[in-house]
Amino acid sequence: MRKLIVAGNWKMNGTRQLAADMVHALKETSLPTDVSVVVFPPSILVGSFVDCSGCKTGIQNINSEPSGAYTGELSASMVKEAGCSYVLVGHSERRSLFGEQDDLVAAKVKAAVGNGLMPVLCVGETLEQREAGDYLAVIKSQVVLGLSRLSIAELEKVTLAYEPVWAIGTGRTATPEQAQNVHASVREVLAEEYSRKVADEMSILYGGSVNAKSAGALFAQPDIDGGLVGGASLKVNEFLTICSAAA
Ligand code: PEP
Repeated sequence: MRKLIVAGNWKMNGTRQLAADMVHALKETSLPTDVSVVVFPPSILVGSFVDCSGCKTGIQNINSEPSGAYTGELSASMVKEAGCSYVLVGHSERRSLFGEQDDLVAAKVKAAVGNGLMPVLCVGETLEQREAGDYLAVIKSQVVLGLSRLSIAELEKVTLAYEPVWAIGTGRTATPEQAQNVHASVREVLAEEYSRKVADEMSILYGGSVNAKSAGALFAQPDIDGGLVGGASLKVNEFLTICSAAA
């Protein structure tokens, strides 16, 4: 049985008040018990979430190095000590705006697992890559390279998130069929590269303009195990609706 997860990525948005409102709502609302809720607030707000009874806390980024002269950065061990359990790695905004490539993504995934954090490895094609028709190969390569430093045993700490770049923040969600096709293909990649067990047990989330209306049909697909939600995770009621849709 794979873990169902709905994760909210606040990006560089949100306030202490919104964090307090979200924590309160998650505590007071009885969401389906088989859905794990994770919130990735800006790092300065993680303290508002770490004692939240209704969610786990994640960080949006880590440095791959353990410590040192990296002004402005956070190491995996610091993030763990601050009470986070998850970390986003390979988000398309980190890849496109901060030049993060697959070897750095792999190093961050390894640093996360090595320090007791669960990485959510984000993969996904650009519109050009989709239109060129080679998007499954692009996604396969991101998955294989991103996981390349882990042992088989470490793979159980990983969650994947398929986020087509053309769907992130655009209001253009992939159709449930488009998303399911990619998720099924990623699962086959995991079976070929590792084992059927790894493929069957790894949660694969869909991300890209998920909202309260689109979540149900996406999460009903057999290979979609929940969602990574950006914009809609900043609206307390809508986020709770999306969380409920994963059950
Ligand atoms: C994201 O940031 O991972 C994301 C999917 O954003 P949005 O839901 O706003 O498209």
